[in-house]
Amino acid sequence: MTALTFYGGVNEIGGNKILVEDEKTKLLFDFGQSFNFGEGFFTSWLGPRQLNGLGDYFEFDLLPRIRGLYSKEQLASTGFSYVEPQINALFLSHAHFDHINHVQFVDPAIPVYLGAGTKLFMESMEETSGFCRYGEHSCHKFRTRGKISIDDVVVEPVHVDHSIPAAYGFIIHTTNGAVVYTGDLRMHGPRKDLTEDFMEKAKESEPIAMISEGTRMVEKETRKNYSEAQVKDLCDEIVSSTDKMVFVIHYSRDMDRFRSFYRVAKKNDRQIVVSPKTAYLLTKLLSDERLDLPDPLKDDRILVYYKRKKSGTFDEKDYYAWERNFMDKMVTYEYILRNQKGLIMDLDFYQFAELIDIKPSPASSFIHSMSEPFSEEDIEDQVMHNWIDHFKMHFHQLHASGHMAREQLEELINYIQPKKVFPVHTENQQLFKQHCRNVQTIEYGKKYSL
Ligand SMILES: [Zn+2]
Repeated sequence: MTALTFYGGVNEIGGNKILVEDEKTKLLFDFGQSFNFGEGFFTSWLGPRQLNGLGDYFEFDLLPRIRGLYSKEQLASTGFSYVEPQINALFLSHAHFDHINHVQFVDPAIPVYLGAGTKLFMESMEETSGFCRYGEHSCHKFRTRGKISIDDVVVEPVHVDHSIPAAYGFIIHTTNGAVVYTGDLRMHGPRKDLTEDFMEKAKESEPIAMISEGTRMVEKETRKNYSEAQVKDLCDEIVSSTDKMVFVIHYSRDMDRFRSFYRVAKKNDRQIVVSPKTAYLLTKLLSDERLDLPDPLKDDRILVYYKRKKSGTFDEKDYYAWERNFMDKMVTYEYILRNQKGLIMDLDFYQFAELIDIKPSPASSFIHSMSEPFSEEDIEDQVMHNWIDHFKMHFHQLHASGHMAREQLEELINYIQPKKVFPVHTENQQLFKQHCRNVQTIEYGKKYSL
């Protein structure tokens, strides 16, 4: 018996939690958090109480009651009794929140298999944020095409291109045939070749089932999407045609995007200003030589922005220990204010108050290099525009998605020719049915035998 059960990513983008059973073997693929997780019961300062473990989550059925999955500590206040692990292993496709965040609840006795790069991202998040803890799991790092045997199942991770390095899809060789899981993937990124490798391997395996992401499975896209190369070129046009400051905002773990801005800075002989958090992440990722990223401590093009904290005098003691590593590369608002035309600065939305000190001169550029807002009533988006207008900056929208467009998804599925397609990580399962053959739409918690 081989079966699939979906506990997340069902009629939603993200939050993947996929159970693959083969005879007595139980494997989980991803254990992420939905983007709208708990929003019916929790909002802003009203959140689940950490000390109550899973209790506050189970109260509202926010997490599945799977026996032998959660840690004793997390279950203590739930009335759902702890038993020894009944899940053999947890596999993680990549280090995005919607694929890994609920790992914190999982029994540490369950081994976690993940890409070497994914481990670095998770460590960096734990080390630089006050609230992020994934627990003490035994972590087994894989590289592409390593084969992992668990009982009679062999799991083969194959790299894919996505908006974070070290993203993988999986070919799960069960006793009844191969099950392919795409993770999140795209074809228009700088490492399209990785996704092509995955396509080849997946096709060769003649899968009995394919679990396919479908983020961009929509009839018609309304939001502008570029390739990463276009993002870089358009950014270069903006930077090369101004002698004013250029600010950029982007997803902090999208290293392709960082590389694009870094290259534009180099081409235009500007320096790039990053936060201590980004500098820390870059340092961490240096140990993965395949990523080819600059060393913020050695590279003269990179400066690290320190905002005023506590004493307001940039005293070492004002900063966390991990932040202090980069003080040799420190610049403050005064430096930025005086050197505007020679800089590109990473500026996170939550750090916008720094603009008051930096005083960007009118007609500076602001590049929003993230998804456009999903709704016109997006409050953060309105606030962002108010700030940009207040400082008389020019706004630019430039983004390349981490996901395949609908036509590419169709091509992917047609090429791999699975016997069955299970759409996950999508709001449009029905569209899969219209555009692809052999589609099995999924329901939350229902077991599908293969
Ligand atoms: Zn995702």
